[in-house]
Amino acid sequence: MQKGNLREKAKTVLVAGGAGFVGSHLCDALLARGHPVICVDSFISGSRDNVRPLTNHPGFRLIEQDVCEFLEIDEPVDQIYNLACAASPPRYQADPVHTMMTCVAGTGNLLALAEQHKASFLQASTSEVYGDPVEHPQREDYRGNVSCTGPRACYDEGKRAAEALCFDMLRAGRVDARVARIFNTYGPRMQANDGRIVSNLIVQALSGKPLTIYGSGMQTRSFCYVSDLVGGLMALMDVEPNPRMPVNLGNPGEFTVNEVAEMIRSMVPTRSAIIYKPLPKDDPQRRRPDISRATELLDWQPTVPLVEGLGNTIDWFANNLSDRPQRRAA
Ligand code: NAD
Repeated sequence: MQKGNLREKAKTVLVAGGAGFVGSHLCDALLARGHPVICVDSFISGSRDNVRPLTNHPGFRLIEQDVCEFLEIDEPVDQIYNLACAASPPRYQADPVHTMMTCVAGTGNLLALAEQHKASFLQASTSEVYGDPVEHPQREDYRGNVSCTGPRACYDEGKRAAEALCFDMLRAGRVDARVARIFNTYGPRMQANDGRIVSNLIVQALSGKPLTIYGSGMQTRSFCYVSDLVGGLMALMDVEPNPRMPVNLGNPGEFTVNEVAEMIRSMVPTRSAIIYKPLPKDDPQRRRPDISRATELLDWQPTVPLVEGLGNTIDWFANNLSDRPQRRAA
């Protein structure tokens, strides 16, 4: 559901990071609404499989390029979504300098492209801008508790700098920029080995390996199903007037990691035990979005319950891993 004066005619939409987990679902949804899509991706953390079904679609164009390099697009572009950035800690920490440059130089290049094309721009920011929060749940006016020297800084601080760039371009009247602060999202096409909680636990359960929990498992997370998130991103891009402030997008339901592990164990036929390992440095204890702003401005809220989203995700992994046990019937 969306509120506001929505633009209705087909727009040419550029999705940077469109071969990633979220980006590929966004490309699907935009094409389904009749918008031609230009996907720009370097495949550093995305997958060709995610966009392979789209390559024969007449409205889809794929440009393989790193957004840190200057971008030139030879056709009019109406909207630009910037999702280009590896999102999971093992991937963004593999080359932290490149991650920071993707956030800063990459976002700068895409904003310049938006300015040139007079395109609206949506930045995929993150709940990581709140760091290990001392306020709970996190509202957009909370300024965060982030280490600028730790191993997550390339991502957290990179995304904060990218937000600053967006708001500077907006205040200067140069780009119609919008910023979504995305909280943990899960669903089909997550990468099996990217170290995120849901994918880790599902893959371990499906492979009959012990389910690994870092820390006590009492730390909480909120989990938003990918179709809900994509709806929120599109609503934020399309709403008029521009909110001119960041908007949290996530599911406010809060679960301990232990609860999620138990749900997955109840849905996958596995005898896997749960094992505990030390918590990585700077890992936040609590994370839950306050989505009142999104509800008020976009009339948006997530609708897919965790048990249903986990079921879809388990089914997808069961069909895309070599070992293929099915999930338990509900
Ligand atoms: P992902 O890693 O699956 O997708 C990112 C995509 O960007 C990949 O296809 C990758 O190849 C591409 N990319 C990375 N750096 C690039 C570069 N320099 N040039 C061109 N392409 C590049 O991650 P995702 O989970 O789909 O996340 C998408 C966006 O949403 C990211 O910006 C991420 O920070 C943000 N986000 C995601 C979550 C989540 O839970 N998935 C949470 C908060 C924020």
